[in-house]
Amino acid sequence: MSVGVLALQGDIQEHSAALLRLGVRPVEVRLPKHLAQVERLIIPGGESTTIGRLLALYDLIEPLRSRAGRDLAIWGTCAGAILLARSVLDTKTGGQPVLELMDMAVRRNAYGSQLDSFEQPLAMPVLGEAPLPGVFIRAPQIETIGPQVTALATLPNGAIVAAQQGRLLATTFHPELTGDDRVHRYFLAL
Ligand code: GLN
Repeated sequence: MSVGVLALQGDIQEHSAALLRLGVRPVEVRLPKHLAQVERLIIPGGESTTIGRLLALYDLIEPLRSRAGRDLAIWGTCAGAILLARSVLDTKTGGQPVLELMDMAVRRNAYGSQLDSFEQPLAMPVLGEAPLPGVFIRAPQIETIGPQVTALATLPNGAIVAAQQGRLLATTFHPELTGDDRVHRYFLAL
């Protein structure tokens, strides 16, 4: 199976390392010709405004939109989750290019400047009973989801931190930084 990691900006190496631990050698996707080689794509965390601009610059938006959820499974972590959203709730940087693939609205930097980053064990029932280490770094929050989207994990306050729409997966946290590869394994089976 060929799995790509979008390699424009962000924590590309950490996702690649997790895939290698699972026996998958990822393709680094920078151009449409790389995207054409893969059946699954991880969009890493980083800066969604930068990744969005580079997606547009390298002509990746249209090929992603036409294949997403069909012959291309996509998982976005953090900035990647923002890029998958139908709408981004952020009055300061409105208008950034996003892929608009999942029926959800996401608020960037939702935990404010004082609580930019935190760790929180998460229950994610599709992965089994053991709690998942949740690492949140200037994380977005999934504020609303449409009827085709399933919430897979929430914080104790009810905030959605993982969601799935068919073969599209979004997590607002960073499993690639933890050594717990269960979300990667789940994505490889989507
Ligand atoms: N705050 C970043 C953004 O808005 C996301 C942070 C991350 O990916 N760790 O794009």
